[in-house]
Amino acid sequence: MPTIYIKILTINIFMEKSPELKLLKIDIDIDPKEEFKKRMSFSDSQIKKISVKEKKSFFYKFNFESVFEYSGKKEIFENEIYVFNGKIIEGNLNEYALLDGNEKEVKIPDFENYYFMAKKELKKIIQEKTNQITKKLSLEFEAKKSEIEEKFRNETSEFRKSIKEITDNLMALAKEGNMKKIIEEKKLIESLKKKFNFEDIEKDKTMEVELETQKHILNVENRLLRTTVIYYPSFNFICEINNMQVSKSFLANFDPVSEEFQGAICDNCSGQTKEVYLCMSGHITCKKCSVKCDSCKKGFCKKCLKNTCEICSKKICKDCSTRCFRCSKVVCKSHTQKDKITGFYYCTDCLKRCERCSELRDPYSFKVSKKTNAQICEECFRKEMQEKVLGGVFDE
Ligand SMILES: [Zn+2]
Ligand SMILES: [Zn+2]
Ligand SMILES: [Zn+2]
Ligand SMILES: [Zn+2]
Ligand SMILES: [Zn+2]
Ligand SMILES: [Zn+2]
Repeated sequence: MPTIYIKILTINIFMEKSPELKLLKIDIDIDPKEEFKKRMSFSDSQIKKISVKEKKSFFYKFNFESVFEYSGKKEIFENEIYVFNGKIIEGNLNEYALLDGNEKEVKIPDFENYYFMAKKELKKIIQEKTNQITKKLSLEFEAKKSEIEEKFRNETSEFRKSIKEITDNLMALAKEGNMKKIIEEKKLIESLKKKFNFEDIEKDKTMEVELETQKHILNVENRLLRTTVIYYPSFNFICEINNMQVSKSFLANFDPVSEEFQGAICDNCSGQTKEVYLCMSGHITCKKCSVKCDSCKKGFCKKCLKNTCEICSKKICKDCSTRCFRCSKVVCKSHTQKDKITGFYYCTDCLKRCERCSELRDPYSFKVSKKTNAQICEECFRKEMQEKVLGGVFDE
């Protein structure tokens, strides 16, 4: 019977007069720089400078009182609801050293939204209790209502019985023709009918049921007793790191209550990292995005280490990459050769080994030896020519 549930339940939420506002502060005794150092690591760089800026962080405690009034009873419950970082949390202040807050020290932020969150949470908390009591009350009410209906049913059948008895009697008297008695009995019927008015009976019944309804109403009143604003210091860091080539700054922050530490942001993948690598081009990266040049072994980020030697496939940095003057291939240092004569750089594939001096040379400069008919480098050819000239001098 859903209508009855509605009838016996009224929840009056949030009657607020002026609740108390309390300001507390958590005494936090830490060295923020040490906390920073504990949480960050630098594999290929070191800290040059850390600057710390303190800011105030807040969380909130709302104390509500819920009064359940029913069947002439009053039950009072107090609920404590914590809101931290926009979330309802399981709060416990016991582990902190609390001091009285100083209003001059902080500007209390607007916490209306958090209050609404706490209210919502309170509704959830009291719902179970409310359901329990409502169920109990409605069962009780149903029993009482049946009792009343039973009572009235009995009374009605009682009345019908006596009317029938008198009527039967009247019939017998009519046969006898006892007029005096007949008049008496008729009077009795009249007075009985007067006493037993069905409309009135129905009204009485409704009233009795209504009375029971009133007795089984649940009234719940919730009141915000106290708001406690708790503040504490949290820390923003600017950290400058360097290696032998570059220096770079990044931001980090630490909340000593939630123990949340936000480290550097990787310049490559934008992920947060507590293990910092410093790219030789000045990018902060995470471990995943850091790569070493296969040639010089210096650390870079993936974006800066794009080159691959087209001969040996090594990943190489810009400093270690050379473009071949002839074929335009990008090659690593071990696959680069400088032609001593022209001064140009070539990949090792584009140079030819001179069989006389064993050096790699630009193949286009090779000449055929007059002495051996072999392809030799320009330098060796020149030497050969000089020797020939000199030899000729001595020959003559
Ligand atoms: Zn990354
Ligand atoms: Zn390199
Ligand atoms: Zn980089
Ligand atoms: Zn080449
Ligand atoms: Zn190579
Ligand atoms: Zn040569």
